[in-house]
Amino acid sequence: MTSNNEILFERAQRSTPGGVNSPVRAFRSVGGTPRFITRAEGPYFWDADNRRYTDYIGSWGPAIVGHAHPEVVRAVQEAAARGLSFGAPTEGEIEMAETLCRLVPSLEQVRLVSSGTEAAMSALRLARGATGRDLVIKFEGCYHGHADSLLVKAGSGLLTFGNPTSSGVPEDFARHTMVLDYNDSQALEDAFARVGERIACVIVEPVAGNMNLLPATPEFLQTMRRLCSAHGAILIFDEVMSGFRVALGGAQSLYGITPDITVLGKVIGGGLPVAAFGGRKDIMRHLAPEGGVYQAGTLSGNPVAVAAGMTTLKLVQTPGFYEDLGARTTRLANGLSQAAKETGVAFSAASVGGMFGLYFAEKVPQNYAQMMACDKARFNAFFHAMLDEGVYLAPSAFEAGFVSAQHTDEVIDATIAAARQAFEATK
Ligand SMILES: *Cc1c(COP(=O)(O)O)cnc(C)c1O
Repeated sequence: MTSNNEILFERAQRSTPGGVNSPVRAFRSVGGTPRFITRAEGPYFWDADNRRYTDYIGSWGPAIVGHAHPEVVRAVQEAAARGLSFGAPTEGEIEMAETLCRLVPSLEQVRLVSSGTEAAMSALRLARGATGRDLVIKFEGCYHGHADSLLVKAGSGLLTFGNPTSSGVPEDFARHTMVLDYNDSQALEDAFARVGERIACVIVEPVAGNMNLLPATPEFLQTMRRLCSAHGAILIFDEVMSGFRVALGGAQSLYGITPDITVLGKVIGGGLPVAAFGGRKDIMRHLAPEGGVYQAGTLSGNPVAVAAGMTTLKLVQTPGFYEDLGARTTRLANGLSQAAKETGVAFSAASVGGMFGLYFAEKVPQNYAQMMACDKARFNAFFHAMLDEGVYLAPSAFEAGFVSAQHTDEVIDATIAAARQAFEATK
């Protein structure tokens, strides 16, 4: 019997490149047919064959209170009934900005936008405008959306400038981005010693989640903070994924480090398009209409999206929310490690707050090279075995996973039991 997912995928490929609106959804890395989702509730979603999956991507992070949370859905319905978009300011946007500034330590002012890409791109322009410098430092394996300056990988020699990772990005743009190794403090020291006076900003995922889960070492972030301050460069924490995911105050609250600019997205929209960037007032005042750095958006601060985001931010402030989420996620990581051990599979797992990483390697990787050395073939076999068991993991060996508040101990224990079968099947 042909699956409805296959029929839909065939059809989608005729009208959309690769059949998807964002590449990882196409299952190219793991092979097979993407599942077309028809509805979701709590920790589950259902595909076009009406098969239920326990969902561990949560829309890549936003679904932190679980899918279709009744309070979020009601807030969206009520906001929609009042009008979808005005192109003029609303009180909801003030409330959102006030809430973000209260909860995220480094924020004095924010601007709302519609995607993480847009927020990171705008943060970069702001950093360049505020410093009058062009050079950007980023780290191999970190993802900051698809702005030209950020789709860059390391050049051939040490401390050379980057090469584009996408066609269509002019080499002249990539020349202004230097790509260093994550968790390598010495490389940062060397870069600042050489060109410190030309560096506009350093942008980093303080808990990296786009090369699987890889937390920064405290020393790496401290070195970055010290060097940026000493050389007048702006430190940008891209917390699009880690914000409201690893802790209420984001990774910056866990590490006790204050970036100059913070980029947010994912959770703050609760499943609708809201992202933000913000920081110190003396930096933010460079933005139009106050300053000379131009940035704008027709749908920025959209009232329906803000309603979803604000309700989600209200729910995550429930006392004990992150303690519970962290405990559930740890239970999952430990349970999977234990199941792998029992079946004799070389595997490790780690978690930070509501984010986790699965590694087909004996030990949890500490840098990009170790991450890339994980057994991708094993992961792919495991991914499909889990899918057969009704568990939907990220369809790539190099993506993080996400737990929601609706993933109860029972749901997680069922996943661990499924994993025991899947490890056994992939030995
Ligand atoms: C998802 C993500 C982005 C891009 O956000 P979009 O909303 O997909 O444009 C940027 N930075 C990080 C760290 C992300 O995880």
